[in-house]
Amino acid sequence: MNAENRKHKMPEQDPKERIRNFREVALGYDERIAVKEAKRCLQCVNKPCVTGCPVSVDIHAFVRLIKEGNFDAAIRKIREKNNLPAISGRVCPYEKQCEGNCTLGKMGDPLAIGHLERFVSDHQREKGFKPAELPKPTCKRIAVIGSGPASLTCAGDLAKMGHKVTIFEALHDSGGVLTYGIPEFRLPDEVIKSEIQYVQSLGVDIEYDVVVGKTITIDELQKEFDAIFIGTGAGLPAWLDIPGENLNGIYSANEFLTRVNLMKAYRFPEYDTPINVGKKAVTIGAGNVAVDCARTALRLGAEKSCIAYRRTEEESTARLDEMAHAKEEGVEFRFLTQPVRFIGDEKGSVKQMECIKMRLGEPDRSGRRCPVPVEGSDFTIDADTVIIAIGQRPNPLLIRATKGLKTTEHGTIEADEDGRTSLPGVFAGGDITTGAATIILAMGAGKKAAKAIDEYVRKK
Ligand code: FAD
Ligand code: SF4
Repeated sequence: MNAENRKHKMPEQDPKERIRNFREVALGYDERIAVKEAKRCLQCVNKPCVTGCPVSVDIHAFVRLIKEGNFDAAIRKIREKNNLPAISGRVCPYEKQCEGNCTLGKMGDPLAIGHLERFVSDHQREKGFKPAELPKPTCKRIAVIGSGPASLTCAGDLAKMGHKVTIFEALHDSGGVLTYGIPEFRLPDEVIKSEIQYVQSLGVDIEYDVVVGKTITIDELQKEFDAIFIGTGAGLPAWLDIPGENLNGIYSANEFLTRVNLMKAYRFPEYDTPINVGKKAVTIGAGNVAVDCARTALRLGAEKSCIAYRRTEEESTARLDEMAHAKEEGVEFRFLTQPVRFIGDEKGSVKQMECIKMRLGEPDRSGRRCPVPVEGSDFTIDADTVIIAIGQRPNPLLIRATKGLKTTEHGTIEADEDGRTSLPGVFAGGDITTGAATIILAMGAGKKAAKAIDEYVRKK
């Protein structure tokens, strides 16, 4: 491949250095590299990149503005469609979205659309935001439940349409998985806070420590608001259900990451939440969550951090960048490996994991080939810390407390393409309707629901 067919590499912290800190791994393009990368764009008339973007960012237009050096106009163009570009520019699986559709990808590397989106967002944050101009207020009031990417997108779009939006968040901080799940070295707190401030600058209020379904019900909210959006995500950890799973030293990914990120265990003793990570950490699973856990364990002092996954790398759902970063940092991968029981020491702490080898069979409903146990292939792996990252399910609290809200067999809320649920005036989107998915899909769902809510309240 000649140089023009390659994307400009993102500068990064050295792997040996970065496993000793929680600072961001990817350092971002500077102006010179950003303009050079933008010049690779072919400005295709049919804009396949835009088709690949769930929030329909006008990619070829913002890239052209970067090429011209007009960074302020570029970020304004992105924000017409995307309320959280500094976040999506960092953690969106763009290889499967816009970049997966980019024409340049047929001749070499696709355009680095994510890196360019991040560049202009960071440029704006450094310079300071100018609040967006808002339309005349409609006097319609919308309640948004949860403050993850689905809710923030929905709330921001509704505010831009002139509606008064209040977000109700169960935790003491906003951002959902962005804040309590994704580690600082991939998505710094400062970046999340600044994007949330942008949404607040549109007039969105956030009320914290409100668990809808417990502190207040949907019925009660319906009396006060013209419409409701539910974006409560999928925060309930899935377990393996095998012997020994309650031994000391075994965490769900949720607990592990929440303690490290939200409760700031990575800054212990400055913050009063210690977390105990031993010398041999094993993470089960191979999605983004698992890769985050394995990399976090290394940074917290594990001498060895290994990922055990019952399928192969090909079936992993983690972003390509994160897989590559994990390997550079020394995370070991044991594919086709399924734990069958945990073995404890005399103090009740995990010391080993008994596993069996798997082979790949026929594809399942997700299209991925099914793992099949290989009989008599048992073996053990030493482990004094185990993190289970095999998926999350929706929390049933709000659903159980809301009469008439239909759910699917997977426990997610049933909603149509635009987020309409079985209850009039109640919409839903993001992981609570799809099950654990991605940030950009959650944002896309929030966007569609905002449009449907706008139509609903204007007709009301
Ligand atoms: P969430 O982000 O889960 O937010 C839901 C919010 O609702 C939370 O703040 C929660 O506290 C609140 N809530 C829940 N119940 C109630 C209630 N009853 N009342 C009030 N509030 C409530 N995706 C990617 O695209 N790229 C990645 O790199 C990536 N990495 C990930 C890493 C980790 C560790 C995890 C866990 C997920 C990752 N994902 C990634 C997936 C992505 O983060 C989710 O798909 C996305 O956050 C879903 O957004 P959401 O708005 O639907 O829900
Ligand atoms: Fe540019 Fe790629 Fe979009 Fe074509 S598909 S306009 S090359 S970003």
